[in-house]
Amino acid sequence: MSETRLSIRILGDPILRRKAKLVAEVTEVDRQVLSKMARLMYDAQGIGLAAPQAGIDKSLIVIDIGSGLYKLINPKIISREGTQSLEEGCLSVPGASVKVRRSKVIKIKALDEQGAAVTIDAQGLLACVFQHEIDHLNGKLIIDYASILSRMRIKKKLEKLQSSQYEKLRESKTESRQL
Ligand code: ZN
Repeated sequence: MSETRLSIRILGDPILRRKAKLVAEVTEVDRQVLSKMARLMYDAQGIGLAAPQAGIDKSLIVIDIGSGLYKLINPKIISREGTQSLEEGCLSVPGASVKVRRSKVIKIKALDEQGAAVTIDAQGLLACVFQHEIDHLNGKLIIDYASILSRMRIKKKLEKLQSSQYEKLRESKTESRQL
C-alpha cells in the first residue's frame, strides 16, 4: 500500500460524483493516505485536495494555502457568515476556472490525524478552500456553479484531451488557484 502512487482523477471519473464515506476510526492507513495526498497536492502545485480526487472513497482532505498544512478527517462546516466570490480552479477539472459564491467566514469541525476532535476558524481564501474540498466529499464540483453554457464548454474541451495533456493544461493555469 505504501508504495502505491496516487493520481489525480479527472472530471468524468464516477468517484468524483460519489459522497465520500465517513471514517469510523482513524488508523495508520488513513495517516498514510493523508501523507500521500499532501505529496500529490504539492506535486500538482495545488492548495487543497480531497480524497475522491485521489481515487479514495473516504472523508479526508489536505489543505495548504501557504500558511501550514491541514490534514483533516470527516470535516464538517458548523457555522457560516457573510459571502465572498473568488475565482477557483480545480485539479480535477484542468483548465477551468469558475467564480464561486461561498461563505466568507466559517467554522469547521473535524478529526485530526490522531482521531482527536478539532475546530478551525477560517475566513477569506482559507474558508473558500475548505468549502471547495468539502464540496468534493459531497460529490460536488466547481462546474456545478458555472452556467450551463460554460459547463458544456469545459466538458467538451476535456473530452478532446488525452490524459498526458492534463499536466500541460494545469501548468498553463498556475496563476489560478488549483484545489
Ligand atoms: Zn477541486
